[in-house]
Amino acid sequence: MDCLFCKIIKGEIPSNKVYEDEKVYAFHDISPAAPVHVLIIPKDHIPSANALTEENAPVVGHIFHVVAKLANELGIAEGGYRVVNNCGEDGGQTVQHLHFHLLGGRSLNWPPG
Ligand code: 5GP
Ligand code: ZN
Repeated sequence: MDCLFCKIIKGEIPSNKVYEDEKVYAFHDISPAAPVHVLIIPKDHIPSANALTEENAPVVGHIFHVVAKLANELGIAEGGYRVVNNCGEDGGQTVQHLHFHLLGGRSLNWPPG
C-alpha cells in the first residue's frame, strides 16, 4: 500500500523512532511544532479516526497509555502537553494513516486556528 506511515513502520522510509511495540510505533515529527513533537501511530493501517470501529478501537486506548509513558520519558509530563488528532480535510489531516500528535515543552495556544 502506498502509505507514508506504513513505509515508516516497515523501515522503508527512515524515521527517528522513540518507541515501538507489537501494536504501535512512535517517532519524532519531521517538522516539529513544539520542542517535543512525537507522532504515535497504530501498526495496522487505519485511514483516520473516522474509520475507527469497535474492533480496532482498543489500539486507541493503548496509544494513550503509550502517550503517558512517553510524556514521562520525554520530560513533559509535569509541565503538561497536548495530544492532537487531525481528522479529514477540515481537521487538517495530511497523512491518511491514523496518528496522534504528542506536543509539549512549551506553553501551547488555545483554541487552534
Ligand atoms: P497531520 O497534518 O496529518 O495531522 O500530521 C502529519 C504529520 O506528519 C505532520 O506534522 C508532518 O510534519 C509529519 N510528517 C510528514 N511526513 C513525515 C515524514 O516523512 N517523517 C516524519 N517523521 N514526519 C512526517
Ligand atoms: Zn498506512
